[in-house]
Amino acid sequence: MKTAALVLLAVTTLATPQALAQAQPTPPVGPDFSKIEVKTTDLGHNTYLLEGAGGNVTVAVGKDGIIMVDGQFAPMHDKLKAAIEAKSKLPIKYLINTHFHGDHTGGNEGFSKDGVAVIAHDNVKARLAAGTTSNTTGAKTPPRPDALPKFTYSDKTTAKVKGLVAELTHPVAAHTDGDTFVYFRKAKVLATGDTFTSDRYPNIDWLNGGGIDGVIRAADTYLIIARKKTKIVPGHGPLADRARLVEYRAMLGTARDRMQKLIKDGKTEDEVQAMKPFAADLDKKWALNEQAAKNFVRVVYKSLKP
Ligand SMILES: [Zn+2]
Repeated sequence: MKTAALVLLAVTTLATPQALAQAQPTPPVGPDFSKIEVKTTDLGHNTYLLEGAGGNVTVAVGKDGIIMVDGQFAPMHDKLKAAIEAKSKLPIKYLINTHFHGDHTGGNEGFSKDGVAVIAHDNVKARLAAGTTSNTTGAKTPPRPDALPKFTYSDKTTAKVKGLVAELTHPVAAHTDGDTFVYFRKAKVLATGDTFTSDRYPNIDWLNGGGIDGVIRAADTYLIIARKKTKIVPGHGPLADRARLVEYRAMLGTARDRMQKLIKDGKTEDEVQAMKPFAADLDKKWALNEQAAKNFVRVVYKSLKP
């Protein structure tokens, strides 16, 4: 047993640099933030989608304050603030993090300084406090003490300002181990974070408690919540509707079943990569590029391999 474990460890260690090289995200460098403009889309009922650099942002305006979901990268703070002020001069009361990744929590420090209370799942706080490792690049991010949420929760909670309720729910072990999806019932707006990406494969952060089964469960939950007129703000990609979510759920199911079979057949990750199991169909619709296709194979494999 001991020998087998040691051999396995050695193989893993040897495979890592190559695997990491394969998993480089594109583009490898961050965007030029000075050139990025925030695009605002009116979702009705004083609710807005803001697109800039990083994950999508949802902004909901109540009678005495504003609730926002996600805060992109740190350098986007001033631009996001200006875009929100263009719609309402009311104070931003809450910033909800859908998960810990920097393209969603980069704004935490800046907005906290402004007096906004950050809300997130318990595990977001734990990860930001401890420092994190990227599942795609292996890059380390040091602890971010100024980014920690003021309020955390474990299963379900609400954030309220006058005339507005945000319903927060934690889908277990999905994109990460600390995801939150937010439903603005009156506006029929559902903000999913990275558990749903409308025009691309999701990244599944297997290194930080995520898994494809959890992403599928989250999608099934959204299918119960969403009706024909529900506006779904994905973590990345354009605003979506229920029909798009149905396609996404089907893709996940196909990918999962196919990969499960390959794993049962004893295929290694390298063998699976060489087979390109999703190239004939799924990649055409969901892979932004070849690297993204490879990364999806990797994250599905990693989250299913026992
Ligand atoms: Zn993410």
